[in-house]
Amino acid sequence: MWHGVAYIIVALIALYLFQHYLLSGGANTALTYNQFKVDVAAKKIKTAEIGSSRITGTMTNPDTAKGGTVGYYTYYQTGEDPDLVKDLQAANVDYSFTAPSSAIGSILLSLLPFLIIGVIWYFLYRRMAAGAGGAGGGIFGVGRSRAKKVTAEQVGVTFADVGGADEAIAELQEIIQFLKTPEQFATLGGRIPKGVLLIGPPGTGKTLLAKATAGEAGVPFFESSGSEFVEMFVGVGAARVRDLFEQARAAAPAIVFIDEVDAIGQSRGAGFTVGGGNDEREQTLNQLLAEIDGFSTDVHRPVIIMAATNRPEVLDKALLRAGRFDRQVEVGNPDLIGRVQILKIHSRGIKLAHDFDVERAARITPGFSGADLANAMNEAALLAARRNAQAVHITDFEIAMERVIAGLEKKTRVMNERERKTVAYHESGHALVAALLPNADPVAKISIIPRARGALGYTLQMPTEDRYILTEAELKDRIAVMLGGRAAELAVFDSLSTGASDDIQKATELVRRMITEFGMSERLGSVRYAGQQMMYLGNPVMDNSQLSPQTEEIIDSEVRRLVTDQLERAQSLLREHRAALEHLAQKLLASETVDGSAADEALASEAVPVAEDGSPPAAASESASLGER
Ligand code: ADP
Ligand code: MG
Ligand code: ZN
Repeated sequence: MWHGVAYIIVALIALYLFQHYLLSGGANTALTYNQFKVDVAAKKIKTAEIGSSRITGTMTNPDTAKGGTVGYYTYYQTGEDPDLVKDLQAANVDYSFTAPSSAIGSILLSLLPFLIIGVIWYFLYRRMAAGAGGAGGGIFGVGRSRAKKVTAEQVGVTFADVGGADEAIAELQEIIQFLKTPEQFATLGGRIPKGVLLIGPPGTGKTLLAKATAGEAGVPFFESSGSEFVEMFVGVGAARVRDLFEQARAAAPAIVFIDEVDAIGQSRGAGFTVGGGNDEREQTLNQLLAEIDGFSTDVHRPVIIMAATNRPEVLDKALLRAGRFDRQVEVGNPDLIGRVQILKIHSRGIKLAHDFDVERAARITPGFSGADLANAMNEAALLAARRNAQAVHITDFEIAMERVIAGLEKKTRVMNERERKTVAYHESGHALVAALLPNADPVAKISIIPRARGALGYTLQMPTEDRYILTEAELKDRIAVMLGGRAAELAVFDSLSTGASDDIQKATELVRRMITEFGMSERLGSVRYAGQQMMYLGNPVMDNSQLSPQTEEIIDSEVRRLVTDQLERAQSLLREHRAALEHLAQKLLASETVDGSAADEALASEAVPVAEDGSPPAAASESASLGER
C-alpha cells in the first residue's frame, strides 16, 4: 500500500513541475493580457506567436538595467480580442500563428510523466522478479533461498548422538530406509511420506534429530529456518521456497529442513501481523504446499521435507493434512533413562572423575531438556577447569546444574522434590480412578515429566473406540477421573494445591453442559439453559441474559452439587485403594513415565496383601510420613 501512495505522490509532483516549467515556457515572464496590450502600444513587444490559448514571444527586458530582450507569455482566448492583429500591426510586431495542436498530441503530452514513471516502475519490477525467480539471480537476489546446504559428509551426526528419543528415532527409521532404497518402495507402489513434522519443546533435539536423519541416510541436508522466508515484499518468500526446493531436487535424494516452521505455516487468516502482511505469508505457505505436493513425481530421487515447531497448535490445517506433514513425531523432554543417555553423549569428550555417577546426575535433573543437559555438562567441565582439577567431579555438575536451573526457573520448568511428589500422586489419582471406573477410557501412559505446554504431568487415556453418544453414567465417570488428581492430593497431603485448576475448569465446564445442554439435572429438567453464543470483537461470549436470576442460582447450585459428588466419589475410591495409590506414585517418582498397565498392576499388587515382598506395608508407612506434612 505504501508503495502505491509513494508512487502517486511522486507522479503528482512530476506532473506539476512538468506543466509549470515545460508547458508554461520555462522561466519566461508572465504578463497579464492587459499589461501585454499596454506593452504592445508602448512598442516593447518584439515578436508574438499566437496560439489558440496563449501568446508567446520576446519583448524588451522590463528590467531596463539589464537591457536586451526576454521571453514572455500571456494567456489568451481566440476571438476574444478582435483588435489584436490590428494593434500588433500598428506596433510593428513580428507576429505569427501556431499550427493548431492535435488533441491526441496534447493528451499524450500530459500523460508523459506517468509514462516515464510507469517505465521506471516496470523495469524495477522486472529486475526484482528476475531476482526473485532465482534463475538469473538479478541485481537484488532477494529470491535466493538462504538455506545452507550441508553435504552428507559434513552432517557429522547420527542417531548415536541423540539420546532419550528412541520412539522418535524408530519413526524416522522408515524415512531413512526410503531415502536409501527408494526403488524398493517404488516397486511396491505405496505412497511415500513426504513430510515429517517434529513437535516438541525447545532444546529437545528436534534440529539434532533432523540432522541425524540426514547423517544416517547419507544424503545432503538443506538447513533453513521459517523466518528466512518472511519478508516484506509479497512474493519473495514464495520465490525462496521455490528456489530451496529447486536446489534440493537437483541434489536429490535430499532432506529439506525448515526449522521453526510456524513462522510461515501459521494458520492463514490469523490476522494482520507486523513484518510481512498476510498476503506474503499466504503466498509463501501456498508455495510450500505446492512444493510438497509437487515433488512426489520422481520416486527414484526423493526429497523429504522435515520441519520442526514447538507451537503445533498455530499451524495451518492444510499443512497437517494427509500427504503433507503426515508423519508427526513428538519429541519430549527426556525421562530418567533418556537423561542418562544424553549425559553420556555429552560427556564423551570430557574427562569424568572415576566416581562420577551419571545416573545420579540424571536423577537430580528432572525436567531438563537435552540442550539443558548439554549445557550443564559443559558448564561442569568449565568449572572443573577453573579449579585446575584433573577430572570433572559430581560436585562440579551439581553446581553447574544449579546455574542452569536458575536460568530455567524463570520458565518454571523445573520442579523441586516436593512438587514432583505432588504431581506424582496427582497423576496417580487420575490413573487409578480411570482404572477403577467401568465407563472410563483405559489409561495408556502416565508421566510426571513437565511439558512445555504448561502441564506438569499428564495421564493419557486412550479411548477404545470412537464415541458419538455418551451416557450420563459415562460423563459422570469422566468427571470423576478429571477430579481424581485433586482427590489424590486431598487423600495424601490433606491440602489443596493449584495443580488441579485445569482439571477443575474442565470438570466444571462439562458439568455445566450436562445441566444446561444435555438436560441431565432432575431439578432443572430437560430444558436448554445454555445461553446463546454471540460474537463480541471476534470472540465467542455467552449471553445468559435470558435466564432469570433464580434459574441461574439453581444452575450454580446444581453444578456445585454434581462436581462435589464426583470429587467425593473419586476420594472414596482412592481412600479404598490407598495402597495402590502409594504403589503407583512411588513407581512414577522412580521412573517418571510408566505405561498405563502400571495402574492395573498397582491395583493387582494390592489384592495380594502383605505376604509377597512386604512392599505394601513399606508404602503404607511412607504414606503416613507424607500425611504428616
Ligand atoms: P531444538 O531444535 O529441539 O530446539 P536442538 O536440536 O537445537 O533443539 O538441540 C540443541 C542442542 O542440545 C543440540 O545441539 C544437542 O547438543 C543438545 N541436545 C538436545 N537434545 C538432545 C538429545 N536428545 N540428545 C543429545 N543431545 C541433545
Ligand atoms: Mg531447533
Ligand atoms: Zn490433573
